[in-house]
Order: sequence, then C-alpha cells, then structure tokens
Amino acid sequence: MFDIAVIGGGSAGMMAAIHASKTHKVILLEKNDSLGKKLLLTGGGRCNVTNSIPIENFIQNIIGNGKFLYSAFSKFDNQDIIQFFQSRNTPLKEEDNGRMFPVSDSSKTILSTLRQELQKNNVSVRYHARVTDWNVTEHHIESLVLEDNSIVQAKNYILATGGMSFPHTGSNGDGYRLAQKLGHTITDLYPSEVALRSNEPFVQAQTLKGLSLQNIELKVLNTKNKAVVTQNSDIIFTHFGIAGPAALRCSSFVLKQKEREVPLSLDALPNISKAELLHIIQAEPKKALKNILKNYLPQRYADFICMEYADTKSYQLNDKTLQSIIEHIKDFRFKVNGSLPIEKAFVTAGGISLKEIDPKTMKSKIIDNLYFAGEVMDIHAYTGGYNITCAFSSGHLAGEVL
Ligand SMILES: Cc1cc2nc3c(=O)[nH]c(=O)nc-3n(C[C@H](O)[C@H](O)[C@H](O)COP(=O)(O)OP(=O)(O)OC[C@H]3O[C@@H](n4cnc5c(N)ncnc54)[C@H](O)[C@@H]3O)c2cc1C
Repeated sequence: MFDIAVIGGGSAGMMAAIHASKTHKVILLEKNDSLGKKLLLTGGGRCNVTNSIPIENFIQNIIGNGKFLYSAFSKFDNQDIIQFFQSRNTPLKEEDNGRMFPVSDSSKTILSTLRQELQKNNVSVRYHARVTDWNVTEHHIESLVLEDNSIVQAKNYILATGGMSFPHTGSNGDGYRLAQKLGHTITDLYPSEVALRSNEPFVQAQTLKGLSLQNIELKVLNTKNKAVVTQNSDIIFTHFGIAGPAALRCSSFVLKQKEREVPLSLDALPNISKAELLHIIQAEPKKALKNILKNYLPQRYADFICMEYADTKSYQLNDKTLQSIIEHIKDFRFKVNGSLPIEKAFVTAGGISLKEIDPKTMKSKIIDNLYFAGEVMDIHAYTGGYNITCAFSSGHLAGEVL
C-alpha cells in the first residue's frame, strides 16, 4: 500500500511525485515506457521550461482560468521553477519574451533532472501502467485498476494525465474519462494553440502559401465586428490557412466563438498609420505601387494586396482606390473556418471543471482522497512556458499539501 499514487508521468505528475515523496511513499504510474514524452517536445526539443515575466503578467498569459492558480503560484511560481532547476545543477537561460530554456538547449537535461529527483526521493516509477478504472466506495477511492487488471492501492491519488493533444505522447484524454467515472464534470474540450483553416479563395488557390509576415497585428472579430483579441507577432500562410505565433495565440478565441466562420483582421504594418502610408505612397508618384510597398512588405504580399494596381504608378491611383489599398494593408479581412484537429494542437482547452476542485489544495470536491494537477484541469495558456509552469505549480501544490 502506497501513501500516494500519482497517475501520469508528465510535467505535472513528476513534480507532484517529487514533492509528495519528501514525506510519503509514492508510486508514479505512467502508461508509456518512459516519462515526460510531451515535455521533451516543447520549445522545439529544447524545453521551454517556464517564463520569467512577473507573475501578474504571467497570469494574463494563462487565458483559460489563470486566476485559479493564484494559490499554487503563491507556493511555487516561475521563479521557484527557475530556482528548482538551477539549484540542481541545471542552469537555465532567458530568451525572447521571457522564455526560459536549459543552457544545454536540450529537453533531455530537464527530464534527467526530474528523473534524478524522483530516484533520490525513492519514488517507485511503474511503466506500461495505464490506469483504466477505480474501485470507489462512498466518495473514496479504494484502489485503481490498470489495463492488465492489476490493482494499485494508495491512501491518496493525484490525477495528472494531461490533455488530449499529441496523443502519441500518452495524453489521449484518459484522464477525462477517469474523472467522469468519479462524477466530475468535463467542460467543453477544444484545441488551443493550433493552426487555423480558411476556405478563402486566396488560401484555396495557395496564393500566399509559405509566406511569412513578421510583426503584424492579427485581430479576432466577433459577429459585431468587434475585436475579441489582438495579437502582435508573426504569421505564416499555409496550404490550409494560417499558422505561426499570432495565429496560434488567436486560435482558442476563434474556436470559443463556435461559429462556422470567424472573421479576422490583419494589419500588415501596425507601426505605420494610414495617414503615414498615404504620405509614403504619394511621395513617390512615378513609382509603381508594388515597388513602393516592397520596401515595407514582402514582395509577394505587396503584389497580393495591391491587386490589379500592382504595376500602376501611384499618381495614377484615384483617392478611392488608394484608400481601399491602404485599407487592405491595414485591415485585411478574411474568414477562418475552424482549426486543425485537437491532436495537432499544442494544448487542450477545457478539462475537469474547476468548480469541483479546491484551488488551495487541488483537491477534488467530490472524492475525498483525489487531487488534480496539470492540463487535465480546465486551464490553458499561450505557449511560451506558461502551460508547463501551470503543470509544475499545480503538481507541486497537490504533492506538497498531502
Ligand atoms: C509540441 C508541443 C509543444 C509545446 N510547447 C509548449 C511550450 O513551448 N510552452 C508551454 O508552456 N507549453 C507547451 N506545450 C504544452 C505543454 O507541454 C503541456 O501543457 C504540459 O506538458 C502538460 O503537462 P501535464 O503533465 O499536465 O500533461 P502531459 O505532459 O501530457 O503528461 C501526462 C502524462 O500522463 C500519462 N497518462 C495519460 N493517461 C494515462 C493513464 N490512463 N494511465 C497512466 N498514465 C497516463 C501520459 O502518458 C503522459 O506521460 C507544448 C505541447 C506540445 C504538444
């Protein structure tokens, strides 16, 4: 009999097991033959382990229920994560936008530190241990059942099975089914941080395929044409729609609208006003429009946005045409129709309802010896180290309070 059984050996489960095992006998159950498969993929294989920005700003980047983690962060926040690794001979470095990576530029370093800590604390790690069911009496888990029908008994349980994106990493939605069996509610599940599809003719014709635009402003509009979110970053046009950081950051806002088509507005030159743009174009009357704009935009985009006027000299453009071209550059409207499937998303939005979890302890309000950690809960964030931090912090809290 163990004191604590942690289900799922990802970021959340490993951190929970490490902290719980300081004072308890812990077993970590992982369905794969290794730990942290998803963690290894993050940051392009370099592991974007956390983000260094101040915690108030940090929480704004957890777009799905960040405030729920105030208590967890008060015990173990991004700075504690940095300290956790640095003090274990795993130096980190900061890159753009506060993103933290191991100096080694390899996720394996982070995983290896976590594994060493599990070993040091005598956590029993059981691989090929897929949990499929519970034995429950009176809101209390007596034991859990593995796929091979064996039973594991513990006094307390921490469910840290992740979401359902990139299912080959092991997180395939098992945790939702397990929580539902115990009476927990699962909120709507949908992809977050995912590329968007579009049926627009220019996408279908692959006119801009492969073209990336840097430092653009992308807005998601609602049915009243009001911006629900604005992202300043880069995008890339693909054969199916748009990808890149700005598109990914917009994705959950698009999908949350549950509309068949959602309008976006793209400002390709957010740092130049319409009046300035007019001045720039009119300052070179004898130049073809596309040649003026190519100093500011990639040539392919300039050609596309100028339409049939690409070769027209600027003095030949009447006011109405000029205004409409400027409008196109500053507020190019196109519709997106959903996204790639959840399997291809970086993060799952939705999860175990937070109404049924105590934020001070991560304890279930339904089952008296069950706790939660990580992406299995209804919490999601932008990429940039925020999701991993949510997993580490909630894992730490669940492990520490027991
Ligand atoms: C390609 C990619 C890149 C990403 N990049 C970033 C990034 O840059 N920044 C960021 O913040 N986030 C990023 N994320 C998201 C981040 O990796 C996750 O949010 C985070 O790993 C979630 O941790 P977790 O422990 O909750 O879940 P997971 O890491 O998914 O771990 C869950 C574990 O539970 C195991 N498991 C599942 N079901 C069972 C079961 N029934 N029995 C036993 N074990 C089970 C799984 O095998 C898995 O090992 C990225 C995700 C992907 C896919």
